[in-house]
Amino acid sequence: MKFNTKTIHGGQQLDPAYGAVMPPIYQTTTYAQSSPGQHQGFEYSRSHNPTRSALENALASIENGSYGLAFGSGLAAIDAVMKLLKPGDEVISTNDLYGGTYRLFTRIFEDFGIKFHFVGMENVHQIEQFINDNTALIWAETPTNPMMNIIDIQALSKIAKKNKVWLAVDNTFATPYLQQPLDLGADIVMHSATKYLGGHSDVVLGALVVKEKSLADRLYFIQNASGAICGPQDCFLVLRGIKTLHVRMQRHCENGEAVANYLKSNAKVAKVYWPGFIDHPNHHIAKEQMNGYGGMISFSTKQDTSASAVSILEKLKVFTLAESLGGVESLAGHPATMTHASIPYEERQKIGVTDSLIRLSVGIEDVTDLIEDLKNAIG
Ligand SMILES: *Cc1c(COP(=O)(O)O)cnc(C)c1O
Repeated sequence: MKFNTKTIHGGQQLDPAYGAVMPPIYQTTTYAQSSPGQHQGFEYSRSHNPTRSALENALASIENGSYGLAFGSGLAAIDAVMKLLKPGDEVISTNDLYGGTYRLFTRIFEDFGIKFHFVGMENVHQIEQFINDNTALIWAETPTNPMMNIIDIQALSKIAKKNKVWLAVDNTFATPYLQQPLDLGADIVMHSATKYLGGHSDVVLGALVVKEKSLADRLYFIQNASGAICGPQDCFLVLRGIKTLHVRMQRHCENGEAVANYLKSNAKVAKVYWPGFIDHPNHHIAKEQMNGYGGMISFSTKQDTSASAVSILEKLKVFTLAESLGGVESLAGHPATMTHASIPYEERQKIGVTDSLIRLSVGIEDVTDLIEDLKNAIG
């Protein structure tokens, strides 16, 4: 089955009761047993729920995995991955990563005796000096947030395999429409389905997809034992979102390209970060491992102050100033005070999250309205 068919049919069956085309929202905690232990595969909804199973099968299908697991949020999904580890284990992570992930790693799991190395992975070989006998996991985000760095997943997976450590890739920004990390050798794909998979800014949900059964079994054990699951209605919403993922992503890419080119042509703009530019430092990797460059763009202004960013953000009318990304509507944010506020100032400067940096999640509106809006705000 091709990707654009999988988004609609992958892992799905018609409802056996009435032939409903969409899986019903099984809003139930428990399931009748005909005799103790005799049931139809469902006992209690923390362990399994038919609507969640439908979503988990869809997730496995679109990521070319074998097993999907859905959680109450993206961070709950990352939390489950971290629970594969034990005190003394070490993790090598991208240095330019989602602020909430950084906070989870450094403020929760460091206290549990897990050591983190935050490393720039634009050249993957930079991580080799941090690998030792305690290394258990490599955590990568690509494109990175908010600097749009591109990391070579295949090269990273070779290093991971050679050293027998897991490679997990946060695929929230790219989505499986643009890149499929399991096919490139990753062991775990993670999603904040809150973003592009849901696609309509109306549900918070997280996901993991893996190929290997033993890893799926361990993650399923953690999902059930820790209980950070999502409710059936939220599963339904994400399942509905996934059905239009390919058409939305196609438009996000087209609009993203037009907006990136417009920003580059504006004399007040200093730098535009978007992996589709030929002069992006890792454009050649993006071209190789992605099927397009997406609608996430960051830019800084020549007047490099927080006030300059704030003035632009306050003037935008079609773009909404808000946290989050990946919905049909265009959003703009100020990483230094919003998504990345939990990262210390010095760390932010090191990775390029300067005070004037603005991050755009380009939506699927008419692109002429988006460019007009930016023109009016930037001047
Ligand atoms: C939003 C986001 C997360 C966290 O997901 P939640 O659903 O908000 O918990 C993790 N990684 C990336 C790249 C994100 O954008």
